[in-house]
Parts: sequence; C-alpha cells; structure tokens
Amino acid sequence: MRHSLAGRAESLMQARLLAHLRDEGPLSRVQLADRLGVSRTTIAAEVTRLGDLGLAQEVGPAASRGGRRSTLVDLDPAIRFVGISIGATGMSVGLTDGRLQVVATRTVASDIRSGPEVVMATALEQARELMQAEGVEHALGAGVGVPGPVDFHRGVSVSPPIMPGWDGYPVRDAVARELGCPVVLDNDVNVLAAGEQHSGVARSARDFLFVKIGTGIGCGIVVDGELYRGVDGCAGDIGHIRVEEFGPTCACGNTGCLEAFSGGAALAREALAAARSGRSPVLAELLAKKGDLSAADIGIAVSRGDAQAVQLIRESGHRVGQVLASLVSFFNPGLIVIGGRVTGLGHALLAEIRGVIYRRSLPLATGNLPIVLSELGEEGGVIGAARMISGSVYAPYDGS
Ligand SMILES: [Zn+2]
Repeated sequence: MRHSLAGRAESLMQARLLAHLRDEGPLSRVQLADRLGVSRTTIAAEVTRLGDLGLAQEVGPAASRGGRRSTLVDLDPAIRFVGISIGATGMSVGLTDGRLQVVATRTVASDIRSGPEVVMATALEQARELMQAEGVEHALGAGVGVPGPVDFHRGVSVSPPIMPGWDGYPVRDAVARELGCPVVLDNDVNVLAAGEQHSGVARSARDFLFVKIGTGIGCGIVVDGELYRGVDGCAGDIGHIRVEEFGPTCACGNTGCLEAFSGGAALAREALAAARSGRSPVLAELLAKKGDLSAADIGIAVSRGDAQAVQLIRESGHRVGQVLASLVSFFNPGLIVIGGRVTGLGHALLAEIRGVIYRRSLPLATGNLPIVLSELGEEGGVIGAARMISGSVYAPYDGS
C-alpha cells in the first residue's frame, strides 16, 4: 500500500542512504553503491521505493568521469523539518530542507518562566506562521530543544531548576499533536551540539564537547559521532558541579555550583555590584542609562577597556576552565566548542578558559585539542533540532 508509512525510512539501508544524502548532498547511484557496499541495481530499487515515500528521487545524470554515466540521487526537495530551540529568555524557530539547510528562521523573546502552555503556544504559532509563509502544508518532523533536563524517551521535561511548571510537561506529544508529525525533544545543549556536528566547527569531529554558557551552563557530549545522554538523560549537566564549598546559592538549591559563579544570571549580578560600588565606571554609566545590566553589558564594558569588567570575565572563565580541565582529563576530547549567549563576551572569555585548560591538563590530552567559539549563532539550535528529528525520520520505521 503506497504511502502507508509515508515519510519514514523502512530499512537500515534506506536510512543509511538518506543520511549520506543529508550529510553529503546529491550523490550518484555509483557513489551510493560504493558507500553502502551494495549493487547499483539495489540502489535503484531503494531509490524508487524512497520516491514512493516522498523522501528521495533521481534528479538526472551525474557529471561523467569517463565510462558510463550514472544517475544522480537527491533528497526530495519538498522535505521540510521544523526546528525549535527554546532558551531561558528567547527562542529560535525555523524550517530546514532535507539537508538541514535553513529555509526560514526567526528569533523571538520569550521567558521560560511563563510556563509551558504560554511558551509552547508561542513556539507553535511561530512554526505555523513560517510554514504558511513558505507554503509548507506538512512538516516531515520537528525537533525541540528546551533549556533544562529532559526525559528523552518519554519526551517530557524533568524538574528543571529555572523552569517552574515544566516538570513532567509532555512537550513532545503536544508538538506532535499540533503539527501532526513525529517529534524529538532534547535539552538545548544537546540540540546545539547536534547543530555544530552538522554544519558548525565540529563537522569533522567524532569526539567532542559542546559547552553552552548562557543563563545556565551545560555540556553536550559527542562520542564516536553520537550524542551521549547517560542513563537518565542528564549527562553533561556540568553547571551544577560544585566549584566551591561555600559559594553563592544556585537556582538548583545547592551552593557553590559552577552556574552560580559563571552563568549569565551570576554575571549580571556581578556587573550590578561592580556598577553600584563604583568599581566600574563604564558599567555604572550603562546602568544609569538602561536601568539594569545583563551579562552582555560586561562585553560592552570590556570593549571600552574597563578593568573591572575584564576581571569579571577572567574570574568567570577561570572557573569554567577548571571544570573543563577535569573533563579533558576524563574524556580526552578532540575538540571543545564554546557557545551560548555569554559567548558574546567572546575572546576574552575564551582566552581565560583556554589558559586554564592548557595549564591544568596533561600535555598528551591537550597537544591536539582546539578550543574554539561556536560560529553558528541563533541558527545552530534550529539546525541541531532538525538534525535530531532527521535522525529519527531517516531511520528504519520500527512500528512504535
Ligand atoms: Zn546548581
């Protein structure tokens, strides 16, 4: 029965074929046969089947390199994925094609503390508007990232410290019901790591860490090309590693967590203190003008040569570096990518983090360890969310 399972790969071979087209672009039947280790006849049959499913199609002759011309195969150009990346203070919503290239995207302000009904209504409204504007009737799937721990298998968020009202909220099922397509839910850090893996600086990395420094701090762990989530899905929750016995109280209720020192909220608090005490004339001036300060204002003050702001970034980067140095010894990654809103503070923060990691870790672990800033910006979350759902759609349909 045609289209009975429309929009999902039916076999491992189809799934692998689709993943190659997603990650490499159009390929000839010969190239696909090489990559999958099967005959061209088998590829031709699979492509016909994938055509029935609305997933892939033949797009004409491939450029000849002598010998017989081969037929070029590409993903169906009508494929659209929805990517929703929700942060603590704003969200990015976008549409991608089958290769996860962003077709349309928008970023809007939204406060995670207004609760799941309000925030998800905003996200779905944005998604529907984008789909309408682009003439997309049906998305093949949607990926969603939220800024807190997620029960990946149940598709719900779990007792998030900065997200009152979200505990147990069925985000995945709510979005699936509204958009009528399969949905994957994960935490925002894993989603950003997936984005880096697909089209960011981590494209060729098999084992890397993606560290998000925003309102919260978290770490996406990619092992041999796959996200590592841990038994309960909270692997990489490094923001709540204790860096000092008697530190400030954290949103999680403990004291001395990394996040309580180096997260966006902690930096904003430090900036206010520096402005009010007169230690930072630039921050005091910004406070007088705006009535409030955020972590980004520290970046402005740094660019204007404010010594106190430079000091704040050093201290923050130092603590992040301390934790990362331990992770380097433990995990021996091939790359560390730093992303998130606070990376607007950019190179001063990066320099401090790098310094600590290179000083504290063994030379063997850091001899070939680039530590770089993410270059993807807001699109990273959209691409990552789309990649997550594409991994599920371009996977064998198991009837579940
Ligand atoms: Zn904490």
